[in-house]
This record gives sequence, C-alpha cells and structure tokens, in this order.
Amino acid sequence: MQEGSQSAGTQEHESAGLRQRVEELEAEVARLQRAAARRRNAGDSAEPLEASGSWRSLANALPQFVWAAQSFGEAQFINDFWYEYTGLPRGELSPASWLTVLHPEDVPHIAEMWQRALSSGSEQTFEYRVKRVSDGMWRWHRGFHRPERDGSGKIVRWIGNAFEIDDLKLTQQALRDTEERRRLAIEASGAGLWDWEIANNLVSWNERIYEMHGLPPGSFDGTLEGFTSTVHPGDVERVNLGLRKALEQDEPYRVEFRVIWPDGAVRWLSTSARVVRDESGGAVRMLGATLDITERKVAEDAVRRSEERFRAIVNTSPECVKLVAADGTLLQMNPAGLEMVGAKLDEDVIGKSIYSLIAPEFRDSFRAFHEAVCRGERGFLEFDIVGMHGRRRHMESHAAPLRNPDGKVVQLAITRDVTQRRERERAALLLSAIVDSSDDAIVSKDLNGIVTSWNQGAERVFGYTAAEMVGQSITVVIPAERLSEEPEILARLRRGERVDHFETVRRRKDGTLIDVSLTISPMRDQQGNIIGASKIARDITESKRAEAALLASEARFRQLAEAMPQMVWTAHPDGEVDYYNERWYQFTGFRRGQGDRSWQPVQHPDDLKRGEDTWRASVRTGEPYLSEFRFWDGRENRWRWFMGRALPVRGEDGRIAKWFGTFTDIDEQKRVEDELRRANQDLEQFAYSASHDLQEPLRTIKIYGELLSRRYAHRLDGEALEFLGYLKNGATRMESLVRDLLAYTRVVQLEPPKESTDANEMMAQAISDLSGAIRECGATVTFDPLPAVRVRGPHLAQLFQNLIGNAIKYRDPGRAPRVHVSGDRKNGDWVFSVRDNGIGIEPEYKEQIFGLFKRLHNGDEYSGTGIGLAICQRIVERYQGRIWVESEPGQGSEFVFTIPVG
Ligand code: ADP
Repeated sequence: MQEGSQSAGTQEHESAGLRQRVEELEAEVARLQRAAARRRNAGDSAEPLEASGSWRSLANALPQFVWAAQSFGEAQFINDFWYEYTGLPRGELSPASWLTVLHPEDVPHIAEMWQRALSSGSEQTFEYRVKRVSDGMWRWHRGFHRPERDGSGKIVRWIGNAFEIDDLKLTQQALRDTEERRRLAIEASGAGLWDWEIANNLVSWNERIYEMHGLPPGSFDGTLEGFTSTVHPGDVERVNLGLRKALEQDEPYRVEFRVIWPDGAVRWLSTSARVVRDESGGAVRMLGATLDITERKVAEDAVRRSEERFRAIVNTSPECVKLVAADGTLLQMNPAGLEMVGAKLDEDVIGKSIYSLIAPEFRDSFRAFHEAVCRGERGFLEFDIVGMHGRRRHMESHAAPLRNPDGKVVQLAITRDVTQRRERERAALLLSAIVDSSDDAIVSKDLNGIVTSWNQGAERVFGYTAAEMVGQSITVVIPAERLSEEPEILARLRRGERVDHFETVRRRKDGTLIDVSLTISPMRDQQGNIIGASKIARDITESKRAEAALLASEARFRQLAEAMPQMVWTAHPDGEVDYYNERWYQFTGFRRGQGDRSWQPVQHPDDLKRGEDTWRASVRTGEPYLSEFRFWDGRENRWRWFMGRALPVRGEDGRIAKWFGTFTDIDEQKRVEDELRRANQDLEQFAYSASHDLQEPLRTIKIYGELLSRRYAHRLDGEALEFLGYLKNGATRMESLVRDLLAYTRVVQLEPPKESTDANEMMAQAISDLSGAIRECGATVTFDPLPAVRVRGPHLAQLFQNLIGNAIKYRDPGRAPRVHVSGDRKNGDWVFSVRDNGIGIEPEYKEQIFGLFKRLHNGDEYSGTGIGLAICQRIVERYQGRIWVESEPGQGSEFVFTIPVG
C-alpha cells in the first residue's frame, strides 16, 4: 500500500509532465493551423501556383511537407523537404514513387480521405506515417489539405502540408497509459474519495472511507463534523487550519492526521483535496482523496528513530565512523574518530584529504581499497595512521559503499584502533615462540595445582605430552616421597611469593627420577588476583652429575694445593676468587669465608691499582696473569714482595672454566736484586769520586817528580835516576787509568737523543784522533758508507776510537795492520763491524775482555788499562744494543756492536 501510494504519486507527477507536453504540442498544432488558415485567406487573391515563384521558394524553405495536386495522386508540386525526408529523387511526382514511402497501412485511409475531400470540397486533416530515409523509421505526420478555388468558386487545385507528429503521438500514447495506470493505482492504493458540497455542508464518499476511519459502512451522518469526529484531538486543529487555508487562501489542501478507531487503534491518514470554485471565485465544493498512510508513518517513525539511534551510536561509538568521498575528501567523522587522528575541531580534518592522516607506506593500499569500496565493494583493511601530529596507530577498518543523497558513492567505514591488540598479539606470539623454543619446561598451573599449559620443553623434560598433562594435577610428576612439597609451594604462591631455584627431584613418565631446579612465580589476572602459577623447571641431572664430578676433582686439587708451599687460589671465569689454600689464611690472618675474597686489605696501596688492572686484563683476555706486588706480612709487620701468577683452565668448549693462581714469595730475590743494584750504584759512585779525587795527588806526584829530575838530575846517581823513571812511569800509567775510569763512569744512562748522528762524521773524527798511531805503524783504515744512528756523537766517536785503536794496537808484528769498518741494517738493528788482521783472541777470553780492568796482555807488550772495551760495552748497552767479538787467533778479530734502528 505504501508503495502503491508512492507510485501513484510518481505517476501523478509523470502525467502532469506529459499533459503539459501534450498541451504544448497541441498549441503548436493550433499555431500551425492558424498559420495555414492565414495563408488560405491570403491565397484567395493569390496568383496561380505556376506563376508564384516566391510561393515555391517559401515552400521549399519550410521544414515540413508542402505539396499541390489536382486530385488524388496527381501531384503538381512537392517541396524539397519531402525529397530530403524520403530520399526520393527530386522532381519525382508520380504516385507510384511516393506510395513507396507511405506506410502501407495508412494508404487506404489516405485514399478514403481524398474521396471525402473531393466529394465535399472541404478541408481535411489526417494522419499517416512516412518513412524517413535517414534512419528508415516510420514517423507519424499530420497532414492538412484544403481546396484552392478560382473566382467562380471552382476548385482548381489542392494544397497540402504535413508535419511530423511522432513526439505528439508517443506522448498521447504515454498519457493514455499513464491515466490508465493512475486510475489503477488509485484503486489499488485503496484511496478513499470524498466530495464536500460546501454550501449545504454535505459530504459524499466511497466505501473505502469507512474502512479508513474504522467505522461500519453507513455510519457517517454525511456532515463535515461527523466526517471529522474521528480525527485525533491532537490533529483536529491542524485539519481545520488546512481546510480554512484551502478555502480562504486557495492553498492546496494536503494534511496528514490521525484518526482514532472505535477500538482505540490510531491510524494515520493523508488527504489531498482540490477546491472547486464558481465563476466569481466562490468555493463550491471540495473534492478529496484520502490514503491510509499508517504503515508509511510507522516506517518513517522507525526510520527517524533508527536514524536518531544511529546518530547516537555513531556519536558515542568508541570506534571511528567516517564517510570519505571518492576523491579522498573526508566528509564526516564522529568524535571518537576525531580524537584518534588528534583533531580538536571538525574543521581540522573534515573537508580535507584523508591521505595526510594515513602513514605514508599505507597510502597506496588505502587508495586501492578506497577505490574498490567506491566502486561498490565491501571490505576490510589494516593500516597505520599518523594522524595530525605524527602519532602512529594501527587501525582495522571495515568499509562499505554508501550512496549519498547526491547519488555519488562514498566510503562508510568503521575503524578501530588495534595498536594495543596488535602489540599484545606480537608479544603473545613472541612469548609463545620463546616458551616453545625453550629447553626448559615451562608450565602453568592453577591454584589447585592443575596444569593449564605445558610447553615442548616440558614434554622433553618430563616425557608427558601437553595433551596428557593439561587438566591433570602437577603431582603426576612428583615422586611420592616429595608430595609434601606441593602444598608448601602452593601456599607460598597464594601469598604472592616467588620460589627461586628450588632444587628437587621429579619423576619422568618412564619412571626415572630427574634433578630439577624450579622457579615458580605467581600468575595474576588483570585485577592483580593470584590465579595460578607459572613454573620453569630445568633438568639439572646432568649438571648435578658434572657438579659431583667436579667436586671430586676439586677435592683432589685441594689436597694438592694445601700441600704446596705457596699460596694457591682459584677463581671463577669472571675473576671472583672462590678458593684459597691454608697458607693464604696463615699469611693474611683472614678466616675462611670471612672477607677472604679480596686481596685489597693486605695489598700495598701503591701496588693496588696496577695489580687489579693486570688481573682484570687477564680475566678479560684470557692471557696468563703475572704481576709483582707487596702483601703486608702480619707476622713480621712489614711488606713482602710476591709474584702473583694465574693460568686459565679451559673446558672442552674452549671457554675458561676456572683460573688457578699462586702467590710466590719473592721478597728474598727482590732484596738481593735491590742490593745488587745498590752495590752497582755505589761502585759507580766510588769510581767516579775516586777518579776525580785521585787526579789531584797524581798531579802532585808528577809535578814534583818532574821538578826533581829537572833540577836535581846532576846530583842523583844512576840508580836514583832509574827509580825516578819508575815513579814517572807509574804516575803516567796511573793517570791514564784514572782518565779511562772517569770516561767509563761518565757513560751514565741517558735518554737516546732525538736527532740522529751521522756515523761517517764520527768515524772521520776517530781516524783523525788516531792519525799519529795510524801513521806510525803504517796502518790502513777503510770504511763503507755508514748510517745515521740515534747515539750521541761523542759516544759513537769513542766506540770507533776504542775499537780501531785496539785493532791497530793488537796488530800482528809480521804484517801491516788493516782495519775495515762497516754498518748494515739487520732485523731492526744497525750492525757495526770493526775487523782487523791482528793477533786475534783465544775463544775462552771472548767474554772476559769486556770486563773492567780485564787485559790479556801486560803493559810491557801492549800498553793499556783494560777499561776500553768495558766503556764500549757500557755505551752500547746504554743504547739497548749488544757488543761481542768473533776471532780466530793469529788471523784477526771482528768486533761487532748493534744499535737499534729508530
Ligand atoms: P787495553 O787495551 O787497555 O788492555 P781493552 O779493554 O781495550 O784494554 O782490551 C782488553 C783486552 O782485550 C786487551 O788487553 C787485549 O788483550 C784484548 N784485545 C782488545 N782488542 C783486541 C784486538 N783487536 N785484537 C786482539 N786482542 C784485543
């Protein structure tokens, strides 16, 4: 009924449109007829057709058929439009030709019309179809023709015209259909019809009216009051106002109102009526039609209510509800959505592109999705948004196409922020991956000890599958003698306590007992209530066994360690000392287990940092530990020197398992070394002052010896002069001894010079200093180009001078001395060689000759002090070099010394 009334309404509208069109067309027809009539009147005085060139051209210009004929079929003239329209050859006038373009069904009718026209001599109007050449369609035309008479009233010819009325025909047909449909629709809609005669206030109506008012037929009294008595009191005023306006102001009467049926039911009616007025404009009657619109009203109400509900839901929804236009413009968004994207006001986002709110990497997928929705698909998409402030959230959107009132399809989407859910899911996935990949058994149970989850590790450790254990009591894996542990564990969990590394025994499915370490934590729900426990059980059977083995080997080790005279200790791989032997406690006075871990309390403050750094470095690198430091000897109340040593012991996997260390007392050794160093220092000091202090009395002896031999030589006898000679020689010898000794002590430890010294220059200087001796014995001294070295010039010159001097001095009496000096680089050292062809040195003296005052010959044979080579050695060693001799007695010697490069 609802639909019926609607389609009746549409048809009403349609037919009004059609009627207007028909009226327009009919007005056009009338206009054309009037024009034809005017022409007819004018034609009364017109010239004959043949003479009327202007008439022809006018006719040819008209967009309709114009023709002239004597009688049926005998055309005299047909205008251009006809030929264009039909496609007939221009000038073709024969009936046979134009009959081909007339619809065969219409030909008899046209013939009949002609008969009538000829017999009556009256004007005719008729309709027929002509085939249009452009599309081959038959089109309706309406033709007129009228007789043209001469002055005597005799018909001379017929003039006709015709124009296309196809549109008109179709419209008329449509109108007829519409009127028919409307009538049917009104009947089908069950409209009540009424007619109110205003003057005598009489209302007449059809049967449907009774039904609509819920009254038995015949129960109206026929007055307007009776008619409106059933109207709902709340609507009476509106009905009357509508009536008054219709009558007084001639407004269309259309009122929707309620009636109350006798059984109390309320129905909605809609009445439209038209006021019929007399010629003076007075209202005579009202014709009305009433429809029962209860169902539509109920539906509208439902729609309105549901719209309100919908709006309320949308506005209070915690999810984002939005409408997005096909071009991506955000049309609407509810408050929750605005909050999600960080918009304070509608204007921030509404009317703008939605893409800026979407994370860049999701914009393409969002566009594809959006376009699909706007093409009519429904769908689901997950994407990230960045909102207005770059706050990234993960969204899940369900979208459907929605046709807007303007006919365009937009996306309606309900979008949920699933960031947290996704994070939880990820965390849960990660957690379950961890749980599943764990070697340990990870099990959860409720507060009654019933297993609620059982991972793969638990399957391996206990041999029961998850299917076997979930729902079972955890006591299944507890051996009978340990069953009392479980209530204790559960009690602790209920108190919210954690059980850490509880070592116990459990039973596998195959009955074997395994050592396990349990860590059990209470599990809480979101409110914080304890609802169960998660338990990690580690199978420590193997490590227990290994531990036992280790304990046994350690026991053996300790027996050994206790027997050792040194302090012995062991440390964890991380450097923490876990054992000292008894000697440590004896030495330090510490008590086992009480602050014995650190060396600090007994270590010398000056050695503390160095000792600690060295030990840490070893722990880090795994290099053996070696360090000297002092410990406080509480028995002697003094610091004692110790050598700390430690070596890492590695396991099968190559990793350090333990450090074994010792402290060895090196105090005695250190003391001796110290004494030696001090003695050397004293000796040097003595040699220095002695050589200095000896020079003074020596000079006195020499001067007075000289005076004595010069002034009193003539008074002394031969023997006295001989003695004086001995005195002089002794003094001279003593002088050179003192001089050499002084030179020796002057070679003190010095920083190597920054600049290098050219050895060639020092070589030249040595040769020049020795030139007298060289010349005297006819020696030849040659040298290769020598390098520059980091040795002070005087030291290098002295080295060359002493070695070349010796090479000349210890010459073979049978041959002239030849000396050659070279300097080559070898393994990071400059290696200098001074080679001679002298007497050579017996192998057993090769080392001795470098000692202080060491000589192989006495002063009679070869003069000397035995200090020269000692000075050479002292110089070379000061520069971190070495000196030695290679020789073959009787063949010559080669003295070699090295100086580090750089
Ligand atoms: P001095 O030459 O004053 O005796 P040196 O310390 O220079 O003292 O030398 C120590 C000893 O080494 C010499 O006494 C000599 O016996 C031996 N000696 C040194 N140089 C040579 C050499 N080129 N050939 C043989 N013997 C040498």
